[in-house]
Amino acid sequence: MDTKISVVENGALKRVGKVFAEAFGQTPALLVADGNTLKAGGFETLRSLKEAGIVVRQYIFPSNPQPYADEYAIQIVHETLKQDNSIAVVLGSGTLNDITKRASSELDRPYMVVATAPSVDGYTSYGAAVSIGGFKQTLPCAAPLVVLADTKVLCKAPTDMTASGFGDCMAKFTAGMDWILADLLGVHPIRKDVWDMVQTPLRKVYKKRSSIARREASAIGILFDALSASGFAMQIMHDSRPASGAEHLISHVWEMEHLSKDGLPVSHGFKVAVGTMTIRYLYDQLKMVDINSISLIGGESWADRERAVRSFFKDPKVAEQTVVIAKKKFLEGEALSKRRETLLSIFPTLIKRIDEQLPPYAELKEAMRMNGAPVSPEDIASNLEGLRHAVTGAQMIRDRYTVLDLFYELGIFDQALESLQLM
Ligand SMILES: [Zn+2]
Repeated sequence: MDTKISVVENGALKRVGKVFAEAFGQTPALLVADGNTLKAGGFETLRSLKEAGIVVRQYIFPSNPQPYADEYAIQIVHETLKQDNSIAVVLGSGTLNDITKRASSELDRPYMVVATAPSVDGYTSYGAAVSIGGFKQTLPCAAPLVVLADTKVLCKAPTDMTASGFGDCMAKFTAGMDWILADLLGVHPIRKDVWDMVQTPLRKVYKKRSSIARREASAIGILFDALSASGFAMQIMHDSRPASGAEHLISHVWEMEHLSKDGLPVSHGFKVAVGTMTIRYLYDQLKMVDINSISLIGGESWADRERAVRSFFKDPKVAEQTVVIAKKKFLEGEALSKRRETLLSIFPTLIKRIDEQLPPYAELKEAMRMNGAPVSPEDIASNLEGLRHAVTGAQMIRDRYTVLDLFYELGIFDQALESLQLM
């Protein structure tokens, strides 16, 4: 694991300098921030670094327009870092962290993040979500060597950012359920240590959902810890499976299509929150499926499947990539019959596991609402049609087994889409 030091506590900003020196010695530091994050914790961070005898340079992005994680921003931090042997200390959340993570990794240097909002699990993940040439992608790079978060600062983060983090955290319920399904099916066995790493803190967060809604410092710390833990789990597995299932695939489709509200891109956690409610709902629908009505033979032909994928993705490059993935997981003839047999044989166990793994739909919805996270496509400037579209695309884009593949392989995907109108 890349991350060696993680400090989450009240007053942690006072320790930035000491922790930095412990991790990197007396190397100079480059503080990367923007106008807003500088206000949130810049003064204390700088003072703490200077008190520890660290020479600090600064690169401050303007706060308006907000910094965007693209090749230009990465280049700026890269060039600024290159002027000497500085180690970056980024004060910020998702975007600034991704920019700094990538720039540091290009120079093969470790870095430290001082988090300002419990908004994503990406702080501690090993990749950076950036847009290169207009295409959003996750570029490989090392996770931060040091993560530090002051709960006093996290509590004052903008409401939407914390709501976003809460949504991204709740996604671990459905991601976990998809992993249980893949495990039962024998396509992706659960690794118990990694499972516990994500699912135990998730349950702590859920228990504290009212306190998080009230922005109580200790509860906000629990939310941040749970998000960090997801990142650590991904570092260990070098795979996002422990933290991401069909709910994230739904959000990826919206991401590709630049879903925005009031002219601003809808945050990752918000898209994921709606994806989570959708998948939670679909798992309930699964309970109502009459398995005796499922035929072991018959299914879509590859020609029809390929046509469907090509017409879904307007960008020819994306369509091409997706056809390859779709082909890889496409089953027909005897292979499909065998898969259906297996699915039907695990069905009773799967149904039993749903209520053990997932909170009741209505309760989860209330938890999201209470914390300011969206629960319906309308909340994020989409609608039923948009949701059905995203769910359809989500089943095509990745070779990761989820409940959407189960619906597709059993030949009841359209029924699942249809049922969404009552969500
Ligand atoms: Zn996420």
